[in-house]
Amino acid sequence: MAAQVNSVVGTHVWVEDPGVAWIDGEIVEADGEEIEINCTSGKMVVAKASNVYQKDPEFPQCGVDDMTRLAYLHEPGVLHNLQCRYDINEIYTYTGNILIAVNPFRRLPHLYDNHMMGQYKGASFGELSPHPFAIADSAYRLMINEGISQSILVSGESGAGKTESTKMLMQYLAYMGGRAVAEGRSVEQKVLESNPVLEAFGNAKTLRNNNSSRFGKFVEIQFDQSGRISGAAIKTYLLERSRVCQVSDPERNYHCFYMLCAAPEEDVGRYKLGNPRTFHYLNQSNCYELDGVDDSKEYLATRTAMDVVGISSNEQDAIFRVIAAILHLGNVEFAKGDETDSSEPKDDKSRFHLKTAAELFMCDEKFLEDSMCKRVITTRDESITKCLDPNAAAVNRDALAKIVYSRLFDWLVNKLNSSIGQDPNSKNLIGVLDIYGFESFKTNSFEQFCINLTNEKLQQHFNQHVFKMEQEEYTKEEIDWSYIEFIDNQDVLDLIEKKPGGIIALLDEACMFPRSTHETFAQKLYQTFKDHKRFSKPKLSQTDFAISHYAGEVTYQTEFFLDKNKDYVVAEHQALLGASKCSFVSGLFPPLPEESSKSSKFSSIGSRFKQQLQALLETLNATEPHYVRCVKPNNLLKPGIFENSNVLQQLRMWGRFSILAPDVLNGCSDEITACKRLLEKVNLKGYQIGKTKVFLRAGQMAELDAYRTVV
Ligand code: ATP
Ligand code: MG
Repeated sequence: MAAQVNSVVGTHVWVEDPGVAWIDGEIVEADGEEIEINCTSGKMVVAKASNVYQKDPEFPQCGVDDMTRLAYLHEPGVLHNLQCRYDINEIYTYTGNILIAVNPFRRLPHLYDNHMMGQYKGASFGELSPHPFAIADSAYRLMINEGISQSILVSGESGAGKTESTKMLMQYLAYMGGRAVAEGRSVEQKVLESNPVLEAFGNAKTLRNNNSSRFGKFVEIQFDQSGRISGAAIKTYLLERSRVCQVSDPERNYHCFYMLCAAPEEDVGRYKLGNPRTFHYLNQSNCYELDGVDDSKEYLATRTAMDVVGISSNEQDAIFRVIAAILHLGNVEFAKGDETDSSEPKDDKSRFHLKTAAELFMCDEKFLEDSMCKRVITTRDESITKCLDPNAAAVNRDALAKIVYSRLFDWLVNKLNSSIGQDPNSKNLIGVLDIYGFESFKTNSFEQFCINLTNEKLQQHFNQHVFKMEQEEYTKEEIDWSYIEFIDNQDVLDLIEKKPGGIIALLDEACMFPRSTHETFAQKLYQTFKDHKRFSKPKLSQTDFAISHYAGEVTYQTEFFLDKNKDYVVAEHQALLGASKCSFVSGLFPPLPEESSKSSKFSSIGSRFKQQLQALLETLNATEPHYVRCVKPNNLLKPGIFENSNVLQQLRMWGRFSILAPDVLNGCSDEITACKRLLEKVNLKGYQIGKTKVFLRAGQMAELDAYRTVV
C-alpha cells in the first residue's frame, strides 16, 4: 500500500487517537515504519506510518466549502474541515454536488428567510455558500431546462436534521413554483402545511430526537409546463404502530395525544380528557412536556394547518374524537371474569373508560367489550366463541388501538393527497425523500430489518449513480475507466428479498404456517443461509441472526418477527368499527372485499413494504438524483458540540464518500506530457491522466509531496 504520509521530520500530520479520533501534530522522529509525533495537544505519540496522514499546512482556518478543494481528501481532512466550519456556524459543506448538513441544534433564521431564497434564485451552483436552497435550485433548473424529473434524497441518522432539511427544500421549491395570485388556498401552501399535520400525528419525542419522524416520507411535487406547482403526492412508509400503546421512559407517544390533552377546556371537556398523567398510553413514561414546546399552542397550530390543507372542522372533530377514544381505550384494564380463563373490565374506572371510548367511537359498548374480551373462532361448520384471559384481552385492546391509529394516519395522508390534488398531466416532478437512516441497536427487531433494507436499496441506488458519474467524468477526460470498481450490494438484497428463498419470503411462509414459532423460523434461516457470505448465526443464540450490511453488521432478534409481519385486522374489530354510527370511523374500516375476508389471501407487512420500496426505487430511477447527507454532531442535541468519533461513524456509513471527489492534482498547469514524465520520474503507478486532470490513487498525493521535500 502506498505511504499515507511524507515521513520527514517536521511534517504536519494527523494521527489516530482513541479519544478524538484524529489529532494533529508534527513528526519529530521517523524510523522506517515507526513515526514519533509531537501532537499539538502536547502529547507524544508513536504510530505506524500507515496510520499517519498528511496534514495540509496551508489549510485555511475557516475550512473550504467544497471537500473536493481539500489538498488531501482523507478521513481526518474531511472531519477537520467539517469541524472548522461548524465552529463558525457554517453548517453546510459540499462534496462535489452532494450537500453535507451538520445539525446546528440552534435556530439560524437568517439562513432561511425570503431574502436568502432570493439570493439563491438564479445563482449558479457553487457561486454562493453551500445551502439546501442551492440543491433545490439546481434540481428545479435542471427540471425546467432539461425536462427531466428530479429527486432529492435526504439521509442521515435520527436527529441529524432530515426533516428540517426537507422542509427547507420544499420551502424553496414552493417559492420557485408558487403562483403570484392564489384562489383560496394555493397548492404550494397546502404542500407546506402538510408537514405540521403529518408531524403532529407521525412524530414523537424519542431518546435520539425530540421531534422524531416515526414514518418514512416521499413527497413528489408536480409542476406544470411553466414550472408552477400543479399538484403533489405524499407517500408514507411504515408508521411505527407500537408507540401508540407502548412508550418507554423518557420518550413520548405521538405529539397529537399531548396536544389534545392541552387543548382549550371546551375540547378537553367534550372528550372527557384531562391530565396526560392519567392515561396509561402516556404515563408509561415520565416525559409529558418538551423543552420549548407549548402543546396547547401546538394544538391550535395543528388545527390551523388542518384548515389550510382542507380538512373540514367536522373531520377535525372526528379525528380528535378518535384520538381521545384511543386514550380511554388504553385505560380499560381487565380482571378475571366468572368463567375460567375469561376476562371483564376490572372496576368502575375501567367501565367508565370503556363507556367513554364506545361513546367517542360511536359504537356499541357491549360490542366493544366483547371485541376485546372474546374471540370468535370460525371453523368449517360452526363458530365458537372463546373467552380471552385478562392478559390476552389487554393485548387485544392494544391491537385495536394500533389498528385504529394506523388507519387514521393513512386517512390523513389520503386526505392530504386529495386535497392538494394531483396533476395527471405533469411531466415534471421533483421528489423529496425523508426516510429513516440505517439503524443498529442493542436489540434489533423487524422494524430495524425493514429500515435497513430501505437503506440497502438506497445505497445501491447511490452506488449506481456514483458509478455513472465517475464514468462520465472519466469519459470527459478521455481516460480509461474500465478499472473503476463497482461496489455492489446486490448479494445482501438477494438475501433479504429474493423470491422465493429470501428472508422475507421465508418469514411469510412461517407466518402462514400455524405451528411456526420464531424458533422454527430462525432454524429455517440457519439451514437455508448457512453458506451465505452476508448471513451468520451468532454463537450464543438459537434465535438471532446477523446480516452484514454495507454499513456494518447488525444482529436481529427474531422474537417478534412473525407477529409484526402479520398484517390482519381482527374480524371483531373490523365488524365493530365498520358499524360505527360515525361515518368517519366506519370509513376507516370499509367492508372487506369478498375473497380476502376468507383469509385465503395472506398479506404481510414485509412483502408489502418490499413492493412499496420497489415502486419508490422505480420512481427514483427515472429521476436525476441529488443528495443531502445530514450529520448529527452530538447525542446531547445541544449546539456547539462537535464529537469527532460520532461524526466519523456517520461519514463512514456512506461508503463511497471519497470516490465522489477523486484526488485532483491542483495547480498542474503543465502540458500533459510534462505531467506524465514527472509522475513517471517519481515512479507512481496506477494514476491516470485525463484532458484537464490527473487522477491519482489514494496516498499518491502524499508520495508526491514527499518528493517535493526530498528533492
Ligand atoms: P428522525 O429520523 O428522528 O426523524 P431527522 O433527521 O428528521 O430525525 P430533524 O427532526 O430534522 O431530524 O432534526 C432534529 C432537530 O434538530 C430539529 O427538531 C431541530 O431542533 C434541529 N435541527 C435540525 N436541522 C436544523 C437546522 N437546519 N436549523 C436549526 N435546527 C435544526
Ligand atoms: Mg425526521
